[in-house]
Amino acid sequence: MSAHQDKYASFVEHPRYGQRPDFTGLDLQPNPGKVTFHWHSSKSCRIPGTAITADLARQTAATVAVTHYFDVERICQDCGRPFIFFAQEQKHWYEELGFGLDSNCVRCVPCRKRQQGIGRHRERYEELFHVPARTVAENLEFADCCLTLIEQGVFHKRQTERVRMLLNLVRDDCHDDVKYKELATRLKAIENQTGQHGDVPNV
Ligand SMILES: [Zn+2]
Repeated sequence: MSAHQDKYASFVEHPRYGQRPDFTGLDLQPNPGKVTFHWHSSKSCRIPGTAITADLARQTAATVAVTHYFDVERICQDCGRPFIFFAQEQKHWYEELGFGLDSNCVRCVPCRKRQQGIGRHRERYEELFHVPARTVAENLEFADCCLTLIEQGVFHKRQTERVRMLLNLVRDDCHDDVKYKELATRLKAIENQTGQHGDVPNV
């Protein structure tokens, strides 16, 4: 295996496109008005020989269209690992999913998934926060959202007080509930890390 191929061994794998560049043999130089590349695909990150042709009729309208996509090397904004934003994936984004050309890919797939999960939990957390009289199931879900956001580092660990309060609130109704036990275990794990010792529900 050449040194060139070895370089990609440390790249985060994409579940659909893999880990290494997809060499098409097509290589071009920018030529204003004729051959244009995405403004996020600077020369330093473009991988030579990986170009594919864009379908301008399908691409979201932009001041300057992109005529060719290249596999580009990226560093994930969250985990700092290198990954490839594949030409095929760009084509999929800008021609099939309808994403604007200004959408950029700054995270590797695992971090994108994590980020999407955080977004969903935040949204649900806020919805449940405003429910005036939550049911037992809603309180458990609320506690779950809150715990997840603490575990992901979005919320400060102080928020465990809210989780403990929620679990105490529903304790008598679902002491033997699997969900309740799971949440109480996760809460204990965080409190053990931080040295907090409150009125921890029995597991
Ligand atoms: Zn990442």
